[in-house]
Formats: sequence, C-alpha cells, structure tokens
Amino acid sequence: MIDRLCEKIPDHPEPGVLFRDLTPLFADGEGFRRTVDALVDAFRGQYDCVAGVEARGFMVAAAVAYASGAGIIPVRKAGKLPRETLSQSYDLEYGTGTLEIHTDDAPRGSRVLVLDDVLATGGTLGAASALLTRGGYNVAGFGVIMELTALRGRTQLGGHRVRALLRV
Ligand code: AMP
Repeated sequence: MIDRLCEKIPDHPEPGVLFRDLTPLFADGEGFRRTVDALVDAFRGQYDCVAGVEARGFMVAAAVAYASGAGIIPVRKAGKLPRETLSQSYDLEYGTGTLEIHTDDAPRGSRVLVLDDVLATGGTLGAASALLTRGGYNVAGFGVIMELTALRGRTQLGGHRVRALLRV
C-alpha cells in the first residue's frame, strides 16, 4: 500500500536524488489512517509524547499524537520557535540544516517517540534525537513511513529502536 501511494521523482530537489513523494499516501484517507495506526501499534505504551520533524513529520506526528492521546513537541527549522531554544546543525542527503526545539515544551524525563516521513541518511532524525536528549527527554524510538536502506540512516540513531513501515 505504501509503495503504491508513493511517487518516485527523479532528480528532485537536486540531480541524483530520487525523491520519495508520500503526498498521495497523505491524501488517501484509508492509507493514511492505516499508516498512523501501524505506528501507534508499534510503540504502544512506550512513549509519553511524540516529536515531529518539520514539515512532513508534523503530519505524521500530529496524527499519531491525537490517536494515542499524547502531546506533541515540534522539531522546527531554525528561527521559527519564539521562546528559548536548543539548536543542532546536521548534514542532509542534499545540503545542511539546523533544527530547534523549545527548552520546555514537555516535562523533562518524558519518553519521546520521534516521527518523520522518510529516513534517508539519518542526519535529520539523528539531530532531532540529539536535541531531545540535550533537552532532558528520553528518546523512546523512531517511527517512519519509509526507510531508504542503502543510505544506512539507522547507524546514526544511536541504537534506539527504529520502526520503518516500508524499507526500500
Ligand atoms: P535524512 O536526514 O537524510 O535522513 O533525510 C530525512 C529528511 O529529508 C526527511 O525529513 C525526508 O522528508 C527528507 N528526505 C531526504 N531524502 C529524501 C528522499 N530521497 N525522498 C523523500 N524525502 C527525503
């Protein structure tokens, strides 16, 4: 189902990148519901709140948070959050970036499930994990819809549990 609802876009956003566009999955009510339910089931009872990485991770995280009655910590690109933040720079498959969280969105010690749409090199989720750890949270694991296994992103995730619904 995930594979069927994923468009593969060659050379986007740069030459040499095969971009996995999951917007058809997000736009399919049944497909999206099953995706969210699978992530909730995979980590049931193991987290107090979820973190979503801007921007596609917000859609996954908001739905998982609502479905499980958990709160949500937004992991945002630099300069967006209005209060005191922690920052972490990282390498992307294409370019570099900086992610930020507020220092006090959820109680310290909360178990946080980190969510995004695609795990590629692991730079993004690795940076999110580092931020959350610096913020005093316990990373409960990582949930993604799709993992690009050739990029070995799991190796960046510090041995935490990773659940990818589709590995390609
Ligand atoms: P990475 O930090 O390399 O693991 O990249 C993960 C982030 O970049 C995720 O937020 C993805 O949405 C996006 N991303 C990276 N590579 C791809 C790709 N080939 N197709 C779709 N999204 C990607």
